[in-house]
Amino acid sequence: MGIEEKLPAGVALTSVERVLGLARKASVWPVTMGLACCAIEMMATGTPRYDISRFGMEVFRASPRHADLMIVSGRVSHRMAPIVRRVYDSMPEPKWVISMGACASSGGMFNNYAVVQGCDHIVPVDVYLPGCPPRPEALLNAILTLHDYMRTEPLGVHREEAARAAEKAALEATPTHLMKGLLA
Ligand code: SF4
Repeated sequence: MGIEEKLPAGVALTSVERVLGLARKASVWPVTMGLACCAIEMMATGTPRYDISRFGMEVFRASPRHADLMIVSGRVSHRMAPIVRRVYDSMPEPKWVISMGACASSGGMFNNYAVVQGCDHIVPVDVYLPGCPPRPEALLNAILTLHDYMRTEPLGVHREEAARAAEKAALEATPTHLMKGLLA
């Protein structure tokens, strides 16, 4: 007999990790971080047509101390980089970052001395969103991808184990310069 059949009706078992993950993913508050044209699409995501509030995150916070998600939307100039990092450092843990658009992820078309070639030089990125600009639907998809990650994110010692495993896998991965073609 399975354990579910032995339990009285109405009793559910779960883990603290699971409950916290569900609570976190259902109440994300993004900090305002619009840097260029991608920010227009990010703002459009908050309009009734796309209705970001369906995901419990209608309030974009002007203070990083109220926020746990940074959506870096637009290219990051070198002058702006320390500010982006300061805002990130002011956000309480746990916190997440979405890199929105080609410019935020890689510098995009701005391959020059004035623009940081990827915001992951400044802050740790959880989800990269390609496009120039990505449409609001794409941003919503990135947010749902992040929700999946938050829902299953390990805590405490499990988190340390997961970080070590990810680091080991990254160190053992084939370097990009050794990859041959699309199937390597
Ligand atoms: S990715 Fe395109 S839309 Fe977004 S900031 Fe760069 S140039 Fe602008």
